[in-house]
Amino acid sequence: MDLMEYQAKQLFAKHDVPVTEGIVADTPEEAKAAAEKLGVVVVKAQVKAGGRGKAGGVKLAKTPDEAFEHASNILGMQIKGLTVNRVLIAPAASIEEEYYFSFLLDRSNRQYLCIASVEGGVEIEEVAKTNPDAVKQIGIDPGTGVDEAKAREIVAEAKFPEALTEQAVQTVLSLWKVFVEEDATLVEVNPLARLAGDKLEALDGKVSLDDNASEFRHPDHEAFEDKAAADPLEAKAKEKGLNYVKLDGQVGIIGNGAGLVMSTLDVVAYAGEAHGGVKPANFLDIGGGANAQVMADGLDVILGDEQVKSVFVNVFGGITACDEVAKGIVGALNILGDEASKPLVVRLDGNNVDLGRQILDEANHPLVTMVDTMDGAADKAAELANA
Ligand code: GDP
Ligand code: MN
Repeated sequence: MDLMEYQAKQLFAKHDVPVTEGIVADTPEEAKAAAEKLGVVVVKAQVKAGGRGKAGGVKLAKTPDEAFEHASNILGMQIKGLTVNRVLIAPAASIEEEYYFSFLLDRSNRQYLCIASVEGGVEIEEVAKTNPDAVKQIGIDPGTGVDEAKAREIVAEAKFPEALTEQAVQTVLSLWKVFVEEDATLVEVNPLARLAGDKLEALDGKVSLDDNASEFRHPDHEAFEDKAAADPLEAKAKEKGLNYVKLDGQVGIIGNGAGLVMSTLDVVAYAGEAHGGVKPANFLDIGGGANAQVMADGLDVILGDEQVKSVFVNVFGGITACDEVAKGIVGALNILGDEASKPLVVRLDGNNVDLGRQILDEANHPLVTMVDTMDGAADKAAELANA
């Protein structure tokens, strides 16, 4: 789960990262009231995207009336396709320099990584292109993590100014606490600013939390979830314990096992090129227990997607044999009744495949087409989606 800036700042404050939390506002009136308390403020769009400043989503307001005006303009605005529903009213800071700092998970090297630069404020990818020497990458051994000595190494490597060394070391240690204790996969501060009076402060924050840890290790993280903004189909799938991701396409996909589903996406995308460019509409892995209820839940979610024109059920019978899966499909169609209104292409293989095919043959459901090979089935599903 990715957090908004104001939520990231709550976690920063909890772990003693120097930060000013500010006040969130959902209306221009609330923005004005916040500015009356805080004085000169910055009105900041709260969306899960970077580059808000460039997009006009970060504005300085010298008076409460200006805060009202900026909030009116920013609320409802679109930034990178996301609608702004909330602004953060933060006390304006007098910035002298802007740095970049992050901790992240470096999967390819099986360790953590710190990226730091004294050339912050702007997009770090840009700095990495134009001035790569200014972007320091420091690997972190997951066994030892970041202790004070490591924090000093990072601060020295990044070349933070001497006057800020002690504050920077403490800030690095605090950010590490956010990263580890909150089970984050990313903690990013850009800018980490040097304010007038040589004060270091996190003026922006981006945190991604590991959902696999959040659910049982951090019940308090649930409060960060933006239920209103979540895709309703993804929410429904989550409720039913399905591993579902909506994509921008027309062929609904159901498979068992993440690897099979991923290769099904590829095969459908390829087959779709010959059928008007149709694409997979989703990722849905029903896992090992492909019984009627799970199949019905999966179909229900996929058929709820208006973009879907056909569905490709691609199952390899293993522990759950093909006859069980076939009964699942027939049972699911019975459960759904008239709700099932789009053509289904089914490809079964593996354990008990003959019996499985026989069950589907005998059911002779008007919406179901059986195809023996994965490529053939993908082609058929793409054709039906384009019909
Ligand atoms: P982003 O564009 O989405 O990364 O949003 P940021 O929160 O990083 O804000 C963009 C830029 O606005 C920062 O790099 C700062 O230069 C500026 N900014 C943000 N907060 C303040 C502030 O309190 N005072 C001043 N003077 N500038 C700010
Ligand atoms: Mn930023």
